Amino acid sequence: MGGPWLDENLHSARLILQGEPLLPIDPVLVVHGGAWAIPDDMVEAHLNGVRNAAAAGWQVLSRGGAALDAVEEAVVVMEDDETFDAGRGSFLNREGKVQLDALIMEGATLRAGGVGCVEHLRNPVRAARKILSESPHVYFVAEGAERFAAERGIPLCKNEDLIIPREVERLREFQAHASDEKPDLFAATLSHDTVGAVALDARGDIAAATSTGGTLNKAPGRLGDSSLIGCGCYADNKTAAASTTGWGEPIMKLVLAKWAADRVASGSLPEWVAAEAINYLQARVNGHGGMILLDPRGRLGIAHNTPRMAWALKTIREESSGISRQE
Ligand code: ASP
Repeated sequence: MGGPWLDENLHSARLILQGEPLLPIDPVLVVHGGAWAIPDDMVEAHLNGVRNAAAAGWQVLSRGGAALDAVEEAVVVMEDDETFDAGRGSFLNREGKVQLDALIMEGATLRAGGVGCVEHLRNPVRAARKILSESPHVYFVAEGAERFAAERGIPLCKNEDLIIPREVERLREFQAHASDEKPDLFAATLSHDTVGAVALDARGDIAAATSTGGTLNKAPGRLGDSSLIGCGCYADNKTAAASTTGWGEPIMKLVLAKWAADRVASGSLPEWVAAEAINYLQARVNGHGGMILLDPRGRLGIAHNTPRMAWALKTIREESSGISRQE
């Protein structure tokens, strides 16, 4: 009989059961937990967070589950982790409120669901998933998004439930120095802790999801790149799946996730394309941030031009994580 084991002799290692591959295609999962000057005392929390997220997503993929479910579960774990700028613990806008954005997209069908400026959802990616699965529309904002979620059984919370003291202090500190000279975009106070995931499942389908509280001290109603199709998130089985993090306005202007996916479609390796995309972001609009990119063949790229970026990767053969692409 024997349980699943790894056939080390196969070029592409597969889970094998009684001589038969358990899964027709080797799944891959990559997650990120923000790209910025993550301070030393926050490194461990970031690494734990992305590892936990990768484990949750992998649980889905290793049982033969869909990439779409895997990215949703991975992102939920990071939304629930106060380390990140997603869900509870997110940055506050200039009025001291949490406003969340999220997008999820399925590469096989191009179905997508997005929410913007929601204030009463602990897990905006769950609402985004409901939109993808149950609505003829693609994107809902504010109260309309919350009503849609509530009508489909997702409980609403108070905005205060999403606010933690660390973020109240961070906003106070930021606003106290708001009149100072041009802010240092790489300063620890200007962090980019958005979360995201890309996955390839055993059927060969890819998916992506991104979730964020946006930028610190943002104007109410401001939407960043994260939840916009092709900007902070994209997935198409014919090209690639991508999730970005960083200063949202420059990323939006370049429609960066789609830009990268299209380059993969024209034959470039995701590893190169991710690096190229981040170079383009910096060169063209002086942007900074990071990207994870995965194609339907399981080839991936992780790139950032910030001092650090938290990421984790899981395949049948490999489990790794880091705080910089160079690691
Ligand atoms: N990209 C996000 C935004 O601009 C922020 C981030 O990545 O942390 O809303």
